[in-house]
Amino acid sequence: MVYSQTITVFSGISAHSAGIINFMRVAVAVPPITDFYFSPPRNSAIGAATVVRALQLAGHKADLFNFMHIGRKTHTVPLPEKISYLSEILTKNEYGLTAFFSDYKRIGPDPIICAEKLVAANPDAIWISCFAFAYSDDAIVLADAIRKIDNSIAITIGGGGPSALPAYFLRNDSIDAVCIGEVEAGIENLFAQASRSNDFFTAENSMLFIPVVMPPHRGTIRISLSLTRGCPKHCAFCSNFITQGRKFRQTPFQKVQEEIIRIAQDPLAASHSVHFAFEDDNILLDTEYFYAVLNCIQRIFPGATFSAENGLDYLLLTEKVIDRLIDFGITQFNLSVGSTNSGTLTTQCRVHDYKKLKKILSYIHTKKIKIILYFICGLSEDTPESIVDSLLTLSKLPVEVGISPFYAVPGLSGFEKTDLFLNNPAYLCKGSSLFPWNKSLTSRQLMTAFRLARLVNLCRHPAQDKELLNTCFQSENIFTRVREKSLKKLVPAEACDTSMIHRFFQNYT
Ligand code: SF4
Repeated sequence: MVYSQTITVFSGISAHSAGIINFMRVAVAVPPITDFYFSPPRNSAIGAATVVRALQLAGHKADLFNFMHIGRKTHTVPLPEKISYLSEILTKNEYGLTAFFSDYKRIGPDPIICAEKLVAANPDAIWISCFAFAYSDDAIVLADAIRKIDNSIAITIGGGGPSALPAYFLRNDSIDAVCIGEVEAGIENLFAQASRSNDFFTAENSMLFIPVVMPPHRGTIRISLSLTRGCPKHCAFCSNFITQGRKFRQTPFQKVQEEIIRIAQDPLAASHSVHFAFEDDNILLDTEYFYAVLNCIQRIFPGATFSAENGLDYLLLTEKVIDRLIDFGITQFNLSVGSTNSGTLTTQCRVHDYKKLKKILSYIHTKKIKIILYFICGLSEDTPESIVDSLLTLSKLPVEVGISPFYAVPGLSGFEKTDLFLNNPAYLCKGSSLFPWNKSLTSRQLMTAFRLARLVNLCRHPAQDKELLNTCFQSENIFTRVREKSLKKLVPAEACDTSMIHRFFQNYT
């Protein structure tokens, strides 16, 4: 390995490592996170893997510690103080198809254990990856745990969270520096505190492309990848522009092809089915480019399947595009409608066409491929009534409903003032915190909407739990399943909003 890069450490910024360093050993850490739930396939940590590669290319020795994988296990932890309002509306020990969540968990080992592992690797610096502002507190807890054991290791934090509000981290004594925005532009300033302007984004030719191969699961290898960055649209509820900007950029095709060929040399890939999980935010902005990549994948991995995890823009779908995507092996269509209310979408600057959406959904439905249609609940224009009406509208479409409770991110329209975030814990920004950011629905109403969305999906698949479905409709109430000692029983879900439930059952057809 060639250690050629010289890094200048800015005096007064890191008390731990001032001076000129020719190369470093850097541990890149993905902290354990706390939440009610985190989908294991979303643990790929592409961002952290990209940091590792960027550091290696800059001549450093970098190792990845993904504690969400290393730990694997989840541990129940107390509900954080500022979301204790949820304890009044949770139903204990519930599970099943109309359930919310009952236990707050840590996904990964205790932060002290993570810190010990990191320090034992004897790095010169530790880079903590924080992919979303909502998980900032988990990243800071890890930094504090490291600092307690070793006061000499320089700690940098980067990712979507720090990019949204660097000051949330820089006020913490355990953190030496924050890397804002894309890593390629900031790697040479490993210890520079938030030094880059927010409107600088990596040129296409310099963009690193790091597909992450996940461990085999049920005979399939899942490869997470992101080909593009940025989106020129201005949906007011979307925070993508904060880290990736509004210019759509693609990884050069040649680079993508080389990486796919490289993956094919992995013996694991040769002996398993392969699924490509694209993490792009608006990949259809250049459909021909996407086809070229999918074509390359099919050439190298005949029969591979794929999904667009962050959704496809239905405005860019046509029957021809849908047919091509099916031919290339798409396993389900994840689409986002934002809201079913045209006035709300206009206020949110979301370009929409409900007539086109219905046409697209009917066409995909004829192909017998699953569709999940996501909508946001808790936008400023929403009311409890409009949300129930949206669910009733969605229940008539050939889709499964994905409900996303609205959460704020510093920098979103209406949430530009940093004081709000500096004076509150970032965990309020998790969707599962059901915090009433816009005061349009209360936490209780957000939870009721969540359960109703699940009930709509159960109506689509009644065989999954006929008893639960019949009980809900016979009683015109939301029931849920609970475990009590060795007993499993049906009970009314606690603390639902009765007017919303009444409106739903009165109007469901
Ligand atoms: S189209 Fe998607 S990625 Fe683009 S701004 Fe809207 S929500 Fe964000």
